Amino acid sequence: MTIYSANGSNTTIRERLGLRPIINVSGTMTALGASIIVPEAIAAMSEIASQWVEMDDLQRAASTIVARLTGGEAGFITACCASGITMAIAGAMTGTSLLAIERLPDDTEGLKSEVIVQLGHIVNYGAPIDQSIRLAGASTVPAGTVSVTQDYHVREAIRDRTAAGLYVVAHHTVQYGMLSLEEFCEICHARGVPVIVDAASEYDLRGFLARGADIVVYSGHKFLSGPTSGIVTGRKDLVRAAYFQNRGVARAMKIGKESIAGTMAALEAWEKRDHVGIRQREEAALNLWKDALQGIAGIGAEIIPDPTANPLNRLQVFVRPESRFSAAGLASALAAGSPPIIVRNHEVERGHFFLDPCNLHPGEAEIVAERMRAVLSAERPADAMKSARKDTAGVLRWPD
Ligand SMILES: *Cc1c(COP(=O)(O)O)cnc(C)c1O
Repeated sequence: MTIYSANGSNTTIRERLGLRPIINVSGTMTALGASIIVPEAIAAMSEIASQWVEMDDLQRAASTIVARLTGGEAGFITACCASGITMAIAGAMTGTSLLAIERLPDDTEGLKSEVIVQLGHIVNYGAPIDQSIRLAGASTVPAGTVSVTQDYHVREAIRDRTAAGLYVVAHHTVQYGMLSLEEFCEICHARGVPVIVDAASEYDLRGFLARGADIVVYSGHKFLSGPTSGIVTGRKDLVRAAYFQNRGVARAMKIGKESIAGTMAALEAWEKRDHVGIRQREEAALNLWKDALQGIAGIGAEIIPDPTANPLNRLQVFVRPESRFSAAGLASALAAGSPPIIVRNHEVERGHFFLDPCNLHPGEAEIVAERMRAVLSAERPADAMKSARKDTAGVLRWPD
């Protein structure tokens, strides 16, 4: 196996590595390589790769760009959103005490070490969010119930030991019955508690700070199409304290110069991106897929908006028994085909999945339409009606 191939090779890196040539219609998924990195970011990464830089100065430059795009007072780039959450929480605990930073995560004596989160916000994005809290040395104080949080649940959870409130904006959270960001901020701020927002996959770079958040964390590799990274922005004192965690727990979450430069370039590219043109291409793909599924017994399809109001629609595909597929069975059949099509399957147990148009290379939308029609007109595989089981057997086999 040769990984590197000079220009002119007629193989692709996926072929040389024996990786399946998947088409991703599931969204910006870590498990599938996060995003298609924009050319501006790739060029910046390549250009800085062979240069020495003073990392604090690189992060100073990043702070300027992050501040310009988000409206924050300062900002920095880190390994990913999950690490940004841990760093923001650790910063709220230690302030700028360099000794306290080295004492984390296990020695929190004298530090505020509780983080309030609405119960319906305790999500799993590949790992449980409360682990990002625990990594800082803090503990999670859940407020309210799965379906309802009232103001008093948060207000009365605040104590002297409260370091921060954490507010999650995502399709993963319970989408009703939770406090709004404004209500959450009002309650926390009345007691001097800073609010950290996890906005990992939100397109709105300014709104959460504008609505009262003190520090907001984004992924660089989701809608921004940067390299794997996280972006922290907000109040300067909190951002500074979070940044200093690079001398502590965040040492184990190190980001390199290439990803910092790549994320900066992705932010710049975002400012100039042809958002309208991209939206039109996405809509064309959705309509193509919807048409391809017309008139197939037991299959329904509807274009639906993003649950957290990002400017992105998806196709919801309803799979009823008359199709002689279950939603899980059809998703598996598409993933097992050639080329493999990976759909957004986090709700298959409810009899549907989604097709996300935001990560397509030219020509792939047509292949997806063709593959769906082919699979739905072919003989059913043995597991066509399989139920959606949470099966980790495949996961546990790695590296075999
Ligand atoms: C993806 C996601 C994360 C994790 O982001 P990474 O940058 O991959 O660490 C955190 N929170 C939410 C809501 C997410 O969707």
